[in-house]
Amino acid sequence: MKTIKEPHKLTSKIKTLKKQGKTVGFVPTMGYLHSGHVSLIKKARKETDIVVLSIFVNPTQFGPKEDYKKYPRNLSRDSAIAKKAGVDIIFAPSVKGMYPVRNKSRRYVGTARHCISGGISNGATYVEETKLSSILEGAIRPNHFRGVTTIVLKLFNVIRPDISYFGQKDWQQAVIIKKMVEDLNLDTKIKVLPTVREKDGLAQSSRNTYLTKDQRKSATILYRLLIEAKRLIESGLTNSKEIKKRMQEMINKEKLAGIDYIEMREPETLQPVTKISGKVIILLAIKFGKVRLIDNMIIRKRRGKSRC
Ligand code: AMP
Repeated sequence: MKTIKEPHKLTSKIKTLKKQGKTVGFVPTMGYLHSGHVSLIKKARKETDIVVLSIFVNPTQFGPKEDYKKYPRNLSRDSAIAKKAGVDIIFAPSVKGMYPVRNKSRRYVGTARHCISGGISNGATYVEETKLSSILEGAIRPNHFRGVTTIVLKLFNVIRPDISYFGQKDWQQAVIIKKMVEDLNLDTKIKVLPTVREKDGLAQSSRNTYLTKDQRKSATILYRLLIEAKRLIESGLTNSKEIKKRMQEMINKEKLAGIDYIEMREPETLQPVTKISGKVIILLAIKFGKVRLIDNMIIRKRRGKSRC
């Protein structure tokens, strides 16, 4: 396994590999790897010749008051996990490597200010999906998805992957990336893989490390809410307002948890669903103090029954 830090070095390495007829699978991450990331790596390992894992805590997708500085980082820990999972190349660029500002003679003179201040532009180029990026997560985290689509497009340009792997846990992100790929005619296939959970149902996330012992116990509420929604839909309840009310009642009993949103949406368009008839996605964002966790479940209602 190789670790490459400079974008141009990776691009030329990939060119050579592609000339040899190799296919490239790509798993973008912000690091601090867990079994959710590993499931994406393993799928890429099965389906492609060369597996590239990027580890980059992308400043442009964090708001000024978010956890950019605090986000857990540990490249040597991640390297050991990546190697074991079958990664061929780790791409671990620096912020100035991905967002350089150069003077007229192309000399690097600093890092774009927008990167440090969390999404405030100083005139850099962004790519932005304009329909789905301002709802749900986007309504609470302005400019978040603009940062995501910008970095993912940059990574696609550096790596030119045949297949790119994303997790269902960040469903809205996956839908937006798929839309960007379609709208901009990008030449990579997007695969979205199921959410990997802890034994008690909590979705694996690098942010789980922020939880105190009590918050960690309480955090199982996300999965419990999803299971309850599934049960209600399976028992024939179709009114999303009623389902939401029952979920709110459940969460009101959890003293450490606060709701950012509980939403029922059509999975691909992310439009609100009032009466559940076919496929629906339940999307949750719940806060434990300053720690914000998201989760979701797709439920398909069929002839009085539903399937997850
Ligand atoms: P992150 O490092 O959190 O930006 O996540 C990198 C990729 O891993 C994204 O495509 C996530 O959706 C995916 N991912 C994160 N958590 C999980 C999980 N618990 N199960 C499956 N995929 C995940």
